[in-house]
Amino acid sequence: MTRLLSEFARENEVRYFLISFTDLFGVQRSKLVPTQAIDAMAVNGAGFAGFAAWLDMTPADPDILAIPDRDSLIQLPWQPDVAWMAADLYMNGQAVEQTPRWVLKHVMGKAAAQGYRVKTGVECEYFLLTADGEQISDGRDRASKPCYDQQALMRRFEVISEICDAMLKLGWGAYQNDHEDANGQFEMNWIYADALVTADRHAFFKYMVKAIAEKHRLRATFMPKPFPHLTGNGCHTHLSVWDLPGKTNLFDDPNGKLGLAPLAYQFIGGVLHSAAALCAFTNPTVNSYKRINAPVTASGATWSPNTISYSGNNRTHAIRIPEPGRFEFRLADGAANPYLLPAALIASGLDGMEHQRDPGDRHDNNAYTDPLALETVKRLPANLLDALRCLEADTILTPILGSALVSAYTKLKHQDWNEYSTHISPWELEATLDC
Ligand code: ADP
Ligand code: MG
Ligand code: MG
Ligand code: MG
Ligand code: MG
Repeated sequence: MTRLLSEFARENEVRYFLISFTDLFGVQRSKLVPTQAIDAMAVNGAGFAGFAAWLDMTPADPDILAIPDRDSLIQLPWQPDVAWMAADLYMNGQAVEQTPRWVLKHVMGKAAAQGYRVKTGVECEYFLLTADGEQISDGRDRASKPCYDQQALMRRFEVISEICDAMLKLGWGAYQNDHEDANGQFEMNWIYADALVTADRHAFFKYMVKAIAEKHRLRATFMPKPFPHLTGNGCHTHLSVWDLPGKTNLFDDPNGKLGLAPLAYQFIGGVLHSAAALCAFTNPTVNSYKRINAPVTASGATWSPNTISYSGNNRTHAIRIPEPGRFEFRLADGAANPYLLPAALIASGLDGMEHQRDPGDRHDNNAYTDPLALETVKRLPANLLDALRCLEADTILTPILGSALVSAYTKLKHQDWNEYSTHISPWELEATLDC
């Protein structure tokens, strides 16, 4: 019999549980439940009004019930009297099919039915800002090429090491931390795992980084492009496909080009084929499109793609093949939903493998200084509306992700775009006042 959560709480001195779910916009919503009530809540679910979160529901809809997944349980390393669990949502006894975690599980189920187990690793870049969020927290962090800057990294040792120690304690296999390419920007890496495990960790990582930064009177942001002249926050996603026991990497092939099997190239072919629609999930905000397709930054490169193309160990394309057995999807940014990002990426790859899509030859050019001709390569969507229209025209991702998700998502994201469109920016005034 599975151990009761109250027993776990007693043994580990946990007083409260966060029953948490991630909504369509990637925001985590929770109920903080005292240990005295957790056993009943774990069975019956914690109640939420879906309309009050970013889910496509009305105020008249019945409550959604969040049933925590015990496998995702994490005792907060910086606040050990609290434990966090990712939950799955139900309404009237049915799974809510528009919820991101459900969608990822559903897509993984489809992959499993074809004999595939997908493993992913994510690189979640973030900035450390002053508490008001207005500027980089370290006034001395001003180098034009600040990447790997030892001095600036070590001025934030207290925050970075606390987060890294937490990951070590949680057994994620944390292995390196660095200052990234923008002033005030950092990255921390841990080892890849099954896509759902990585997605739960990704969600938790964002919460943990923000919480630990706040504890140190700072503010962390994963916003795709907070400063126009600096490199933005990517969320590069590395992916490989394994057999069901998870023992054999099906992407590995010592005789394949760059050590990748034909199956991997078919997957990449699927990603490139659906890339424009995929952007609606991997680059989900108005701000996302200021990171991709961007002019050169103060460091000399944006490190984000401009075209729908793939390469070898070359960081100027949407897909990079850094070594045998995996590829890196460089398009995604810090605003990507931790569950919808892998779900949509896997959906595009399943299509690629099923239809044996050919990605064509790789491109070895420097896409920043030596861009490919427009006839050779497709461009990325120019803005969120462009991406949403590509997703609405898509006939590949939608059947795999489910129309419940895609219709809910596009509806709410259009509201987001429309709200943005009501704002008049300083640039508009400057450029148009004297028209
Ligand atoms: P880079 O900065 O060169 O892109 P990082 O070391 O920052 O690379 O991140 C690489 C990520 O890729 C890590 O999360 C790592 O565990 C993950 N990874 C390595 N091998 C695989 C694989 N076979 N499948 C999925 N992810 C992988
Ligand atoms: Mg109430
Ligand atoms: Mg990295
Ligand atoms: Mg990076
Ligand atoms: Mg990378």
